[in-house]
Amino acid sequence: MSPRPPRRLLAQELAAAAAAYQAAVVIPHCAECSKPCCRLDPLVLELEWKQLKTLWQIEESRNAFDRRLGSGQGPEEIRAGNGLYYAHGKACPAYDQAQGSCRVYGQEVKPVGCSDFPVYEDQGSVVADLRCEAVDLKALVAWMARAVGPEFRIVHSADEEFPFLVTLSVKKVTGNARVSKRTRY
Ligand code: SF4
Ligand code: SF4
Repeated sequence: MSPRPPRRLLAQELAAAAAAYQAAVVIPHCAECSKPCCRLDPLVLELEWKQLKTLWQIEESRNAFDRRLGSGQGPEEIRAGNGLYYAHGKACPAYDQAQGSCRVYGQEVKPVGCSDFPVYEDQGSVVADLRCEAVDLKALVAWMARAVGPEFRIVHSADEEFPFLVTLSVKKVTGNARVSKRTRY
């Protein structure tokens, strides 16, 4: 039996597997998605000031923009909080609706939440957002199980408050549990 990979190494494996799943399964579906996440409904996009300024093509200073937003004159889809900005209810300006694609794909200005959605590694587990129609939970569990190998099994649980957020945790297989894993997948 091989020793358990260090936690950091396992997290890297999970992050790589999540990214590979996105590339192989999710992204190819985006152009034909019936509920594109870039419409930001019901999703919320978290932005730093530079990202907001670039994507929304804001000319004024941050202070001036904040004053405008605070007085109710700013873009109605933007809210400010905790030093960040949140866009919701209107399509992201970088979203090309005709092509069903992102105009800033692969660029630094693209918010990290866009790259993470809908499957990403978080603190040694993988989180899947089932609001993305391309995510098949059963197939994703099998994908992750293949990625980490037969020494581990994948256990998943839904968030109590937001059940569309599912966490896939990695558990060491021992004794009888190994038998149950073979019958499960
Ligand atoms: S919801 Fe999923 S499939 Fe649809 S555009 Fe977003 S990432 Fe692509
Ligand atoms: S930056 Fe790109 S991926 Fe992110 S919401 Fe806008 S169009 Fe979609």
